[in-house]
Amino acid sequence: MQAKMQQCKEQSGHVARLSDERMGVATKYGENLTEGRKIVGHSLTSGGRGKERRTCVCSLEIGSETLSSEIRNSSGSSSHCSTCGWILSASSDHKPVPTMSLAWGYGNNNGPLHWHEKFTIAKDGKRQSPIDIQTKEAQYDPNLQRRPIMVNYKSEMGMELENNGHSVKAQMKEKSELRGGPLEGTYLLEQFHLHWGAENGEGSEHTIDGNKYDAELHLVHYNSKYETFAKAADKPDGLAVFGFMVKVGKSNDGFEKISKDLGNVLVKGKKCNMADKFDPSCLFSDLTAYWTYAGSLTTPPLYESVTWIVFKKAVEISQEQMDSLRLLQDSEGKSIVNNYRPPLSVGDRVVNSSFS
Ligand SMILES: [Zn+2]
Repeated sequence: MQAKMQQCKEQSGHVARLSDERMGVATKYGENLTEGRKIVGHSLTSGGRGKERRTCVCSLEIGSETLSSEIRNSSGSSSHCSTCGWILSASSDHKPVPTMSLAWGYGNNNGPLHWHEKFTIAKDGKRQSPIDIQTKEAQYDPNLQRRPIMVNYKSEMGMELENNGHSVKAQMKEKSELRGGPLEGTYLLEQFHLHWGAENGEGSEHTIDGNKYDAELHLVHYNSKYETFAKAADKPDGLAVFGFMVKVGKSNDGFEKISKDLGNVLVKGKKCNMADKFDPSCLFSDLTAYWTYAGSLTTPPLYESVTWIVFKKAVEISQEQMDSLRLLQDSEGKSIVNNYRPPLSVGDRVVNSSFS
C-alpha cells in the first residue's frame, strides 16, 4: 500500500492565474477568490450610453474549462456573478471591487443556510436539490423499465484525484457514456465525488423517507449535445447525476483503490494521479431500480440543470474506507465532514420510479 501511495504522483498548486497584463485588474483579487470557484479574472468596461459592463470570468470547480459569466449593470451599484457568486461594485476609479467576504462552505457562517446570500437561486429556485424522496409519493413510470440505463464507462489511466476543500473529486479524461432511463441522447461522465458525515448516521444529501445514509456518491455526467461540461452546466437538460446512497458495511474493492490514495490529497488543493487504471463502474452494481426527478447542483452555483437518478440499492464501504474520507482537510486544515446540503422542498415536482 505504501509503495502504491508513493507511485501516485503529486501535483502542486491548483489555481492557475493569468497575468495582470492579460487580465487587467483581475489577479490582484486572486487571494479573495471564492473558494473552489477558480476565478480567472474580472474586468469592467464601458458599454456605451453611460452603461457599464462588468465581466466576471470564472471557472466551475466541477469542470475543467472556463465558463464566462457576463454581468451588465447600468446603475453603477453592485452586481452579482451568477456563476461564482462574486459581487462586483464599481469604485471611483471604475475598477471592480469584490465585496464578497466569506467563501461558501459547510460551516456555521458560510454553510447551506447562507448560500442564498450570494446564490439567490438557493431560495428562489424551483428545482433545488437534494430532496427527501418519499417512496410512497413516487410515481412508477413503466417507460423507465422499457429503456434501461446503459453505461459504457471506460477505464481511466492515471485518473486524477483532487481535494478541492469540499470533497475529493475524481476527474475523468475518457469519454464514458451514459444513456437510457429518463435521458434523451448521450451523456458523458465528467467527474465523481462524495458527501459524508462526521460520524455514521448522517452524510447523504438525499434522504429516503427521511432516512439519512452515511455518505452519498455522485457521478456527474453532461449532455453530449453541448460541447463541454462548462457549456452544459447551466442548461435545463445539461447534466445527469447518479446518486448512490453509501452505508458502512462490507469493504468495497472499487472504492479501496480511491481510499488508499486519499493520503496523497489530504490537504486542500492537492492532486494526484492514480497509479492503477480505474473503471468508475466498479463502484456500483445495480442500475435497475432508481428514482428520478428534475433538480439542481447541490453546491454553488446550484444550477437547475440536473436530471437526478438516485438508486435504491445502497453501496457499501467498510468503516476504514469511510474513515479515510474524514481525514481530508479543508482550507483551514480542519477535517472535511458534514459536507452535505440538507433536503429542500419538492414543491410541485414529481419523483418517478423505475420500479413498482
Ligand atoms: Zn455532489
